Amino acid sequence: MTLPGSPHIAWRGDDLFIEGRSVAQLARAHGTPLYAYSKTSMLAALASYQRALVGRDHLICYAMKANSTLAVIQTFAQAGCGFDIVSGGELERALAVGVAASKIVFSGVGKTRAEMQRALEVGVMCFNVESEAELDLLSRVAASAGKTARVSLRINPDVDAGTHPYISTGLKGNKFGIAHQDALANYLRAAELPGLEVVGIDCHIGSQITDAGPYLDALDRLLDLIEAIEARGIAIRHLDLGGGLGITYNDEAPPSAEALVKSLLDRIDARGHGHRKLMFEPGRSLVGNAGVLVSEVLYLKPGREPDGDPAGAGKNFCIVDAAMNDLMRPAMYQAWMKIVACRARHEPPMRFDVVGPVCESGDWLGKDRELAVHAGDFVAVLSAGAYSMSMASNYNTRGRAAEVMVSGDQVWLIRDREPVESLFAGEHLLPS
Ligand SMILES: *Cc1c(COP(=O)(O)O)cnc(C)c1O
Repeated sequence: MTLPGSPHIAWRGDDLFIEGRSVAQLARAHGTPLYAYSKTSMLAALASYQRALVGRDHLICYAMKANSTLAVIQTFAQAGCGFDIVSGGELERALAVGVAASKIVFSGVGKTRAEMQRALEVGVMCFNVESEAELDLLSRVAASAGKTARVSLRINPDVDAGTHPYISTGLKGNKFGIAHQDALANYLRAAELPGLEVVGIDCHIGSQITDAGPYLDALDRLLDLIEAIEARGIAIRHLDLGGGLGITYNDEAPPSAEALVKSLLDRIDARGHGHRKLMFEPGRSLVGNAGVLVSEVLYLKPGREPDGDPAGAGKNFCIVDAAMNDLMRPAMYQAWMKIVACRARHEPPMRFDVVGPVCESGDWLGKDRELAVHAGDFVAVLSAGAYSMSMASNYNTRGRAAEVMVSGDQVWLIRDREPVESLFAGEHLLPS
């Protein structure tokens, strides 16, 4: 049986392996809940973008909010990536790894004055500005610091909702970006304001997009704008098409990054914009399929026999030691993520809701899953490399999971399990 996602996370006989290591053995060695990542899978995902961009002036900026663990940032930094950040905290993570500020773009709708000051001080490559008010504040902050902020305006291209209803950030009526009808006026304003230098244009139309259509629509709108802006004498040096490419959680079949980028390049070349520096900000598509969340089955709780009340017909619960605080995607987005036993049992499966220990009915990892498991077995949630550990919380005073990185037969602990003392170390009792 093949698994969705990465070829580096696969069965060897009855055991689930991540590259050359048994997932159950990793769980025994490091405890659970445990995030385990395939480094080869991350680099292969990046290579798909890189292959399409060979010979072009480009920068792939990993959107680190997908997974901002230092060793993950380091992996992409060593492979030549730049980074897309959305907070001052992410900026400090990148700097802590030794990333050059000149390879960092700063996105986000709510940058604070302090975040702008710090980003100017270290000299980030570009601010992706999302509103007119932000443009004004950035101008004032930069001018008073005696710095120049390089800016790109994030355009909301309002790509057709009728044909692409799953796109969530590139439509008018959401909080992201500057409406494309207002773009030219904002560029003219940016060119006048002190402390700003226009360098590019960007968009980011959504996430988990599984076909090229909306990207091509957005690209056309941006190219139209570039032509209109440059006709007014403002040079646009780079074109940043954001992130958003989907991955396979179950049976989705997104284009490869290579195929997507090639189709975008064809359009860019056909319209005579092939000389521009190109940027992408992939997050999920670089790390999502590379990770698993490993958890131990604590209890099986069989459902009650139906007692005349159809609604009371028994559900079976598989209670595991990972919870919504470790993996929020199912609770937050009703996301479907595949769950497998780390060691196959040759017995008939039962149907379970896989749930965690947190005191919320929303605390589930998967519903109606066929599993053959006993208490003490390990299960793995697949495609948990993106928006998983980076969204973990301490709800129910649960420390965050440990993380390991695997490459071939090698394994490195890249984050310690969070010790319980640290969860309230910064708190203060009232005077008695
Ligand atoms: C989140 C985000 C990305 C990455 O999105 P993915 O769907 O993970 O590829 C890129 N750019 C911006 C501005 C973002 O907010």
